[in-house]
Amino acid sequence: MRAEYGAGGPSDGVRLWHMVRGAEDVAMCGRELDAGAPVRDAVDWGKTPELCCHTCGAYYLRETPYLAAEHQ
Ligand SMILES: [Zn+2]
Repeated sequence: MRAEYGAGGPSDGVRLWHMVRGAEDVAMCGRELDAGAPVRDAVDWGKTPELCCHTCGAYYLRETPYLAAEHQ
């Protein structure tokens, strides 16, 4: 996962978390993210105080159906 900053950039803090493959800086939803933005492990998806991107969540759960089953 990689963070998307608020409108003011890094000083605004994390606005949203996106899912990325490996260390890429383009999210599964297609959004380009700041390569210097914070990253977290995928297991933290849904557990952050900040929101997670719904589109990325849909892609991510489709690619990892065993995780989707756990959430049902
Ligand atoms: Zn996203």
